Amino acid sequence: MFGLKPDFCNVALPETYFSMEDYASSTARWCSGCGAHTILTSVQRLCKEEQLLPEKTVFVSGIGCSSRFPHYMNTFGFHGLHGRAFPVACGIKFRRPDLNVFMVTGDGDCCSIGAGHWVHAIRYNIKMVVLLFDNAIYGLTKKQTSPTSAKGTISNTHPRGSVLPPINPIQATLGLPNASFVAQTADWQPAHLHATIKKAYDHPGLAFVRIVQRCPIFMRDVYEPTVADPNAITVLNHENGIQLDEKILKTFHNVVDHDPSDINKARELAERNNRTPIGLFYQNENADRYDEYGAHNLGISTEDRIDAINSLMDRYAV
Ligand code: SF4
Ligand code: MG
Repeated sequence: MFGLKPDFCNVALPETYFSMEDYASSTARWCSGCGAHTILTSVQRLCKEEQLLPEKTVFVSGIGCSSRFPHYMNTFGFHGLHGRAFPVACGIKFRRPDLNVFMVTGDGDCCSIGAGHWVHAIRYNIKMVVLLFDNAIYGLTKKQTSPTSAKGTISNTHPRGSVLPPINPIQATLGLPNASFVAQTADWQPAHLHATIKKAYDHPGLAFVRIVQRCPIFMRDVYEPTVADPNAITVLNHENGIQLDEKILKTFHNVVDHDPSDINKARELAERNNRTPIGLFYQNENADRYDEYGAHNLGISTEDRIDAINSLMDRYAV
């Protein structure tokens, strides 16, 4: 159909429709082969599937390779300070509950300088999707040991190998009070990646997703064996977990049943480190949410809050 975007071809046209291209901004400048490209595509696909209004959607990030993400989305965005994405995202959602809030962070941004904010954001459980791009290195500053670098990682800060055991972000998050959604996926498993991001978007609180991410520039040796070996991944499977097509599920050699309401089993699975587990470790849709408390505490409805903010902003309009 001449003149129409490709995904308009076989559908009845609604009055307003956003294609994937409508969510894309400038060309992503991550390195060729970087896992971040796949994640960006998956998020733009989710936006299209959910028909998220660009003017009602905001991406917040800190500092690092991953934190360039808001520049590549044709939505609102906030590329902030190192480690400070959590309080910015929490503040936005707390005062503007009508917005779709996504937060993108890296292993250095979240698990080192931002670790204090990470802890409290998990406890606040304010509704948003948090995507932790974990490449186990500081990539933007050219290969320094990060909190998730495996012991022995050769880097510019540890040329003879790092000396401390890494933080396991899944294990750490599962140990925090009020964690309500904890999942892990990998950028080179696009079907699982997308199903995980979709499940996270549907969750009523803070959905924490660690994405094991390839950095072919600085960490090729770390991820290539995992990517190449079908035995290196264990899929956590359950009817309440991440749903995969049967044909795709059959391609994995190691599949274990795991009920995501079982937090003790989730912690046990997170502690094992012989394979990379992907799936939904834990979900509690009824965990307390600080944004709901905020609405009650102010004693006004969400609509009244938005009107109050708009009238305040109008005072500064020129
Ligand atoms: Fe991606 Fe690594 Fe390049 Fe950063 S340095 S853009 S993480 S491949
Ligand atoms: Mg990193």
